[in-house]
Amino acid sequence: MSVEKTLSIIKPDAVRKNVIGQILSKFEGNDLKVVAMKMKQLSQAEAEAFYAEHKERGFFGDLVRFMISGPVIVLVLAGNNAILKNRELMGATDPKKATPGTIRADFADSIDENAVHGSDSEAAATREIAFFFDAAEIAH
Ligand code: ATP
Ligand code: MG
Repeated sequence: MSVEKTLSIIKPDAVRKNVIGQILSKFEGNDLKVVAMKMKQLSQAEAEAFYAEHKERGFFGDLVRFMISGPVIVLVLAGNNAILKNRELMGATDPKKATPGTIRADFADSIDENAVHGSDSEAAATREIAFFFDAAEIAH
């Protein structure tokens, strides 16, 4: 197993629901360690740049509007196979299809407002961590 870092975002719906701590507990209870974290209001330009891979999709405007609808928590998680492990803990993009006990099954209401983001590959993790954090802001 390899030690990896991955980017997580606790999205505006989950911040509004006051479940930041419960989501962090899922990470910590599954051997993922928080090595960087901040609360942030994304600007429209930041949200558009972060999700640029989806800019041609019909849901892009709604996705950006949602991501700037309130503050988010951006965090870096570290651990063995952290990228895949985080994706498994998150559950499916559509919470109706998410495995019981996953973060989206427990805390998300819809595919549009689905509680968390997680990097989906090593390349994405590297890009997304650098998008939000300077190296000096990450514990090691
Ligand atoms: P995220 O990137 O936020 O971790 P994901 O990797 O599970 O989610 P993506 O395919 O990258 O899913 O889509 C990014 C986001 O766009 C999703 O979290 C969801 O909110 C929204 N989205 C994706 N597909 C759809 C869809 N078919 N209809 C509406 N919204 C969608
Ligand atoms: Mg994605």
